[in-house]
Amino acid sequence: MAKKLDLTRREMPKQTAEVRRQNFEEVALGYSVKLAREEAKRCLQCKKPHCVDKCPVEIDIPGFIQCIAEGDFGKGVSVLKDKNLLPAVCGRVCPQEEQCEEGCILNKKGGEIAIGRLERFLADWEATQGDSKVLRKPEKTGRKVAVVGGGPAGLTVAGDLIKLGHAVTIYEALHEMGGVLVYGIPEFRLPKVIVKREVDYLRKLGVNIYTDFVIGKTRTVDSLLEEFDAIFIGSGAGLPWFMQIPGENLNGVYSANEYLTRMNLMKGYLFPEYNTPVKNHRNVAVVGGGNVAMDCARTALRLGAREVQIIYRRSRQELPAREEEIENAEEEGVVFKFLTLPVKYIGDENGWVTEIECLKMELGEPDASGRRRPVPIEGSNYTIPMDAVVCAIGNSPNPLVPDTTPGLDVGKWGNIKADEETGKTSREKVWAGGDVVSGAATVILAMGAGRKAAKSIHSYLQTLELD
Ligand code: FAD
Repeated sequence: MAKKLDLTRREMPKQTAEVRRQNFEEVALGYSVKLAREEAKRCLQCKKPHCVDKCPVEIDIPGFIQCIAEGDFGKGVSVLKDKNLLPAVCGRVCPQEEQCEEGCILNKKGGEIAIGRLERFLADWEATQGDSKVLRKPEKTGRKVAVVGGGPAGLTVAGDLIKLGHAVTIYEALHEMGGVLVYGIPEFRLPKVIVKREVDYLRKLGVNIYTDFVIGKTRTVDSLLEEFDAIFIGSGAGLPWFMQIPGENLNGVYSANEYLTRMNLMKGYLFPEYNTPVKNHRNVAVVGGGNVAMDCARTALRLGAREVQIIYRRSRQELPAREEEIENAEEEGVVFKFLTLPVKYIGDENGWVTEIECLKMELGEPDASGRRRPVPIEGSNYTIPMDAVVCAIGNSPNPLVPDTTPGLDVGKWGNIKADEETGKTSREKVWAGGDVVSGAATVILAMGAGRKAAKSIHSYLQTLELD
């Protein structure tokens, strides 16, 4: 008999908006065992699962969901971790609505399985079972790989290659591992203890990790090549863009990177317990409409701002942030000013920003991105009083590694050119992937690029004669 369709996605409990805007604790609380099993039982276990086709790291999604439905969580974790080193991270921040969940057959009827929530459930269940065990260490191959950058791309390459027996060393510029997962995405969306757990697991597998180590300064790629058989560059896209308008160097105008790094990595929100002072701004504007802008706005609210406005030049429909995060921001009281473009920041005699001059916009014909182009309305200038502005309009790769690596080809925006299927760059023995190649994208795409590069590096290492 055909399985009866249950189209009701089980809601995940979360802190109420009134409570959560006063704290930095995680907003979403995760499924209980009962909710997870109910949700898992809705899965139709398709013979040709489109959810897997849409997953950049090809997780056996029906496989782990079946384990949850049957209550065999341990086996579910093994199925999940076979393809995904960072399930607790991906379960929280992946845009599932555009990937696996979009592919779910039930999506057509409006009741797609909550795959991300189930992934998170299993990863969190595993964390309650004590430290992850290293079941078996592979035989050593004698080959050595260096990884530049400790974000999702670098972590994936390191995890995949160490499991194949190669010696892996990661060089990370910051004092903590995790890349954007620790310096960008706030604690209330991704608790840092989760990232630490995944990094600790890599250490247990035998990955060497050097932090506070800047490739291009402390050592160059060429000097690493004297010691290593292959190098993977996963240095991300951490160079913030500004709008190049008057007043951007006033006090109180931040890049999203600086703002979030102070709060997250430097634990500004825990001042004075941590030695990172934070100015209490009352009226904060965040310019931009992506996940980064939502994170900045919600952080500003939690730091006590009276009003936080997101200034975005298109309309709500074109906001690039995840719908879930837009809704969270709206519920928490972030005000959205659509079809608005800042053209100038105005300051006081002490050099602090006090006002933003804006232009009103209207939507014209679609541009290259397929979204309708915002067109300024002549003479519509007006000012908004403001004592802080966070610019969250995008990032490009930091030029340090390409600038210090002769022969490494880069594109127009400073991104390293690498083969899409293998991650190979123009330099022999050098691979690259993640945001440094694609430009600012997503965690799972960075992990997918890392996986492809690891595969290609492994094939290359197998061709080498042992000394
Ligand atoms: P990164 O995470 O940037 O890691 C690169 C690492 O390399 C960094 O640790 C950096 O310090 C290090 N590094 C750089 N230069 C050097 C050097 N010269 N030497 C040594 N180390 C170096 N994606 C999602 O999927 N969902 C989300 O909800 C989401 N929210 C986001 C929110 C914010 C605020 C930001 C900024 C990004 C968000 N993203 C999100 C995007 C996602 O985090 C990135 O696409 C992803 O982290 C890219 O991974 P990566 O490994 O390529 O680079």
